[in-house]
Amino acid sequence: MARQKRDEEVFLQHSQRRGEMLHRLVDGIDDGLFIVGNDQQILFANRGVLRFFPSIADPVGRPFLECVRDHRIAEVVANGARSGRRLREELLVSMPGDSMGGERVYSVEAVPLSSNEPAGLDGAVLVILRDETQKHHLEKIRKDFVANASHELRTPLSIIIGYLENLKEGDITDPVEIQRAFTLMKKHGDRLASIVEDLLVISRMESGQTEALRLEVFNFDACAQDVVHRLSPMVANSKSRASFKVDTGEDPSVFGDRFYWDQILFNLVGNAIKENQGGGVKIVVRLRQEPEFSVIEVRDDGVGIPLADLPFVFKRFYRVARHHSQEIKGTGLGLSIVKRAVEAHHGTISVHSKPGVETVFTIRVPRKGS
Ligand code: ADP
Repeated sequence: MARQKRDEEVFLQHSQRRGEMLHRLVDGIDDGLFIVGNDQQILFANRGVLRFFPSIADPVGRPFLECVRDHRIAEVVANGARSGRRLREELLVSMPGDSMGGERVYSVEAVPLSSNEPAGLDGAVLVILRDETQKHHLEKIRKDFVANASHELRTPLSIIIGYLENLKEGDITDPVEIQRAFTLMKKHGDRLASIVEDLLVISRMESGQTEALRLEVFNFDACAQDVVHRLSPMVANSKSRASFKVDTGEDPSVFGDRFYWDQILFNLVGNAIKENQGGGVKIVVRLRQEPEFSVIEVRDDGVGIPLADLPFVFKRFYRVARHHSQEIKGTGLGLSIVKRAVEAHHGTISVHSKPGVETVFTIRVPRKGS
């Protein structure tokens, strides 16, 4: 008798523990979960529903529609119950003041529970609410990127093809004009090559290789000097007459992947040179150490970036329209690559500019152990 009682107690404790674990598991899920009875009353709700309906207090026992206040959600659930089939729909929900631009995408899934469920759950529906906003946002960025990239590639291609056709048909005969056509084809061919090169860098960074950053403490001074050296032909071939200063203070170490830092500095210093063909621009690369961060500044005193363009310069394919911008080589991808590389280091980048006075890009990356 005593043994049977002990067994029953153990069994009870065991089921209580299982119940608690299940409860924690369900509450730990980010998705919102409801069980809605066949009378449309809420039989169960996990903690995740608060993410979707922050003002919902104690939903169990209340009508589902009264809690979610969205006919479309209630309709998916009612249709699921009626059809006995699993249904899923994505809904655009407006959220004034929300960080994702005032609109969110929720998926609502209604899973009718089978008719041999324990009493009380017969005809009930499990409702799963999932926030898909981020996924949609990334998908949109990807689609826009493909559309922009195709457009950017098509423009120089069609110019080159146009000239080739004219030459083939004998439409251009004047030797000076033929020479001009070749020069333009070469220019647009070079542009195609640099776009493809930048696209390869982006795709390399996005194909998960950022996960495999080779982080090590490296000598930033040597890296910056190397970049300046590699850019010297660009200065020699242009009218910029740029001068450089690299100032890394007493501790020139940065914790990062040298390959990415080459790219970051090459793009930032390269921009400062090519945007300032007027001559005499001073470019300063400075490193200072804070207790937890290395702070890198790339500063120039050239033409600068107009205030209206500043918020967009890190966007892909964005280029500042200048009266002479056609003459400046660029893909509009350089700064987006820089931003991506900095973020791969868990760092941040910002820019401030006073046209004609100074333009400063400031990068902060964690030091080793931070
Ligand atoms: P691009 O490949 O065309 O240079 P980026 O993404 O590197 O594209 O730069 C975006 C825009 O920001 C460029 O069109 C350029 O006009 C502007 N910009 C970037 N750096 C500077 C700078 N140091 N001075 C002036 N303008 C700059």
